[in-house]
Amino acid sequence: MLDRSDRLDVAVVGAGVGGLTLAIALRRRGVSVTVYEQARDHREIGAGVALSANATRLLGRLGLGDELDAVSVQPSALVFRRRDGEVIAAHPMGARYRDAFGAPFYGVHRSALQRVLVAALGDDAVRLGRRCVGVAAEPEAARIDFADGESVRADVVVGADGVHSAVRRHVAGDREPVFSGTVGYRGLVAVEHLPSLPDATPLQFWAGPRRHLLHYSIQGGAVINFLAVVRQHEWTRPGWVESCAVADAVAAFAGWHPAAIEMVSAVDEMSRWALHDHAPLRRFSAGRVVLVGDAAHAMLPHQGQGANQTIEDAIALADLLAEARPADVAAALARYDAVRRPRTRRVQRWSRLAADWLHLPDGPAAERRDARLKEAPADLAWIHDHDVQRTPSAAPA
Ligand code: FAD
Repeated sequence: MLDRSDRLDVAVVGAGVGGLTLAIALRRRGVSVTVYEQARDHREIGAGVALSANATRLLGRLGLGDELDAVSVQPSALVFRRRDGEVIAAHPMGARYRDAFGAPFYGVHRSALQRVLVAALGDDAVRLGRRCVGVAAEPEAARIDFADGESVRADVVVGADGVHSAVRRHVAGDREPVFSGTVGYRGLVAVEHLPSLPDATPLQFWAGPRRHLLHYSIQGGAVINFLAVVRQHEWTRPGWVESCAVADAVAAFAGWHPAAIEMVSAVDEMSRWALHDHAPLRRFSAGRVVLVGDAAHAMLPHQGQGANQTIEDAIALADLLAEARPADVAAALARYDAVRRPRTRRVQRWSRLAADWLHLPDGPAAERRDARLKEAPADLAWIHDHDVQRTPSAAPA
């Protein structure tokens, strides 16, 4: 056990899923931590997020299981369909998933997840309205510079500042995002507006040539969160989101089952999201500066793992930093890199492959895929079964 005087002082940039989870875990272990967030209040864009057992087991250990359970929905099954609605494969979830992986699978509204995390951390650990514009190495510390001209120093600076990370530049230089050749239409729809949907309770993927639809329910099962993904040759606009007509999404799913059409037509305002990721980084840390979450490994949403991998990062890093003295920082960050980079790289790759697979044209390859989807739980067990706190190299030396 370390004396208080040996403990690190940690500064985190970004109060998203990663920054908040990391700060909760560090505080629980008695480490001094402050989170600096550019936004002036805690707000999340309205959409759902799916949390799998590899993350919910960790949030449960932080004592957040009951709070999360109260705001989440557990899908009844994982169902794959063809675009005409025919079921390709159906795998029970709910209690079966929890028993198999030792923790639940949740669909949750992002703002509800954020409320749970902020309440667990406490407002006093977060400084809002602080935009990081750069970080720098000093002999005994790392420094964060803010847009308002102020700076802070800490033993360790964590970049949890998302896909457009300012901290990443210090660790990995300027990195160009990679356009995936897919765009997404997202939305929330009341179940009552989906009369043709065969069953609203499973997590469902609908596969078709050059497009797919994913949805699951949140908010007590009353609302469906969907992501409709379509191939698009290029993206030339500066931003990653543009408003578009609802009719664009409807046209993209012409000829599909009526439930798919109902879903994408039921939103009042539609946006098109260019889906990007990053090529894997060669390192997650430099000196006393380290990255977690999308800053380290932005990935496509097709395995629903961005937030889940971010939570794994946060817990792995918190465990290592909680046991490190200021002189041990380099060793702790090297171990974090060794534990997290190979796994997140593999999940990034699978996230890319998932869309290619779901978008196969009709024919023998799609038939082989359909046969394989009957094995989905076994194929994905390496993601959901993983316990980052039981990974041998995560344990402090
Ligand atoms: P973020 O959540 O992006 O948080 C970063 C924070 O840093 C923000 O609060 C931001 O304001 C702040 N910040 C940024 N720059 C600065 C700065 N310079 N100074 C100070 N603060 C700063 N993941 C899943 O696991 N399951 C899903 O179902 C899922 N669905 C998704 C669907 C879509 C369409 C997309 C695009 C993503 C999805 N993801 C999903 C991915 C998930 O949203 C992200 O991986 C996750 O939010 C990353 O968390 P983070 O903490 O790294 O970054």
